[in-house]
Amino acid sequence: MSSANWFGSLSTSELHYNLCELSDRKLHLLTAAFLRRVWDDLPSDHTRLAVEATEKFADGRITVGELARLRSADLLDSCEPLWTLPVPGTFDEELIGVGDEDDSYCDWRAEEYERWVTKQGYVLDGVRAGVKRPEWIVVKVARYVREMVAWKAERDQRDEVILAEASAQEFLFHEIAGPGLPHSQWPQWRTTTVVALARGIYRDQAYDRLPILADALQDADCNDDGVLQHCREAKEHVRGCWLVDLAIGIG
Ligand SMILES: [Zn+2]
Repeated sequence: MSSANWFGSLSTSELHYNLCELSDRKLHLLTAAFLRRVWDDLPSDHTRLAVEATEKFADGRITVGELARLRSADLLDSCEPLWTLPVPGTFDEELIGVGDEDDSYCDWRAEEYERWVTKQGYVLDGVRAGVKRPEWIVVKVARYVREMVAWKAERDQRDEVILAEASAQEFLFHEIAGPGLPHSQWPQWRTTTVVALARGIYRDQAYDRLPILADALQDADCNDDGVLQHCREAKEHVRGCWLVDLAIGIG
């Protein structure tokens, strides 16, 4: 499968395999980016707090314990098993599909959650384990968001919206992962001005300043088309943008 369309796949093993190339920080930010696409439809304010906490944790602003407590509060409030590791061998069967026709979606989710917690022991322990294996949480969240958009869509449009969501997730993966190995000249391009501009963009999430960063990179003798085009032409960026990360010097 080519790198261009792998995220369109619904196969758990392929998703997981390709995510392993990312740092834990980028995996946490990818998780948050997926959930931010359905921000208003997230099940609880606790879920939104857990997403924000995931971003803070990725930036080193809160501890594992603080993140685990917020994720546990979300699990207990929303009954959505987003933040715990899948049970080996049961992942696809338990997380894919829409349950019996007669059951409400929430009933089905609640039953699944109860089974999950029983298998994992204490909620906090299960969530802590999830923090340490962020690649699995990305996969769970990717599937959860696809299911959510499908559930909201008309029955005859579900396949279409799932594919559209998978495509959007693929875009976010590339926005965060970047186009392969970083250019060897980044250390020379990372001038004081470039780093200061990039840090400001990241801190303020102000991607409208990226064309200014492109000018600063050119002043540092960067003439790489991929780098300059991403600054000047890409329409959407998220926290963890590969270009901003490289300009700051974080992975
Ligand atoms: Zn970007």
